[in-house]
Amino acid sequence: MKFMVKVSGVGRSGRLTDFPKPFNNEIFKTPMIMAYTRGGTIPHLTFNSVQRLEDQKMLLLQTLPTVVEFKDPVKEQGKGLNAFVGLPEYPFHVSVQDPGTLTPTGFNVNKGVSVWCEGGKKKLTPGEFMEIIKSYRPVSYQALCDSDTPLGCSKKRLNKSVDNSLRFLDSCLEEHQDCSELCDVAVFGTIQGGYDSFLRKKSATETASRAVDGFVIDGFHVNGPDVENVDIPKMKELLNEIFLILPKDKPRILHGAFEPEIMLEAIKYGIDIFDSSYAYTLAETGEATIFPLSKIPEYFLNEITNCAAKRTKCSSVLTLKDDLYKADFHPVLEKCECYTCKHYTRAYIHHLLVTSELLAQILLMIHNLHHLSNFFKSIQNVLDNQNEI
Ligand SMILES: [Zn+2]
Repeated sequence: MKFMVKVSGVGRSGRLTDFPKPFNNEIFKTPMIMAYTRGGTIPHLTFNSVQRLEDQKMLLLQTLPTVVEFKDPVKEQGKGLNAFVGLPEYPFHVSVQDPGTLTPTGFNVNKGVSVWCEGGKKKLTPGEFMEIIKSYRPVSYQALCDSDTPLGCSKKRLNKSVDNSLRFLDSCLEEHQDCSELCDVAVFGTIQGGYDSFLRKKSATETASRAVDGFVIDGFHVNGPDVENVDIPKMKELLNEIFLILPKDKPRILHGAFEPEIMLEAIKYGIDIFDSSYAYTLAETGEATIFPLSKIPEYFLNEITNCAAKRTKCSSVLTLKDDLYKADFHPVLEKCECYTCKHYTRAYIHHLLVTSELLAQILLMIHNLHHLSNFFKSIQNVLDNQNEI
């Protein structure tokens, strides 16, 4: 994988290219969002509804806890995870944990990492993890890491997460370099250290000295609703310190169901790639994002509203279960071109939600993903006008 990036005062705009075959002609512009999946596919969407998404250019995020139980049949079939789950057209990246679900804490040990799947806890050593990566055939993956650092955890735990992650990274890189099938696959090292400046710098310096293709900035939260507990001003300070150390020409991932304003802030600080777990968490609670895309240039080029710093929910979100929408015959969002907005009203989705019909989540996922994808396109346009690659 290659990454070309142009950096200016307002942010980074880049291109990810040179993926392994058969995705060698794919180009993804950054800042970008990976399509969050569970159990191999985008939550609530069948293959047909995935095809109804306007933007078919997707890098899927396969979350290890939700696909780890497929490891034996995927290996036996021998065609990789995306063929096994019926989505061979889409390249995918693997994350060690699931950003859409709270990760139970206190279970990682020096020898490996616990991931939580339907069948319970599964401990993975770097060797077992790399066996899975070899048979799943992603275009890129996060090396095994210990991101179990909830807000307020001890310094000893933070230290351990940094040391464990570096040791696991070294083991993964050793296996990676010995495996010819992985020669075009990109490896992302993970920067740990919670909210500790010294440990963040140590983790960044050590990880950047390894042969990695990119970085995941992890350990500010333990996924799912814990994203609400992130100390945003402190996170921005630490991103600044980390990015002074990391090479500029390698992509950076930040996982979590962050609100659009916070993703915008993180882009300004130098993050390139996010995941769409936000679209999923909103759909689960019967909500739709209506963040005003026309305001992005204003938000982006000026000092961003301090709502993100204050941690108030300032994103525009419709809670469609409210009685307010019982007889509201408008689409979720006027002028939205998604399948949901073209065919359904707020009132119908309200009815589906109060009667617990599964179609509600399907329609909300389609809209939320479409809107989030347009949110990133709008940001790319703003940056393209600033930065010429
Ligand atoms: Zn829509």
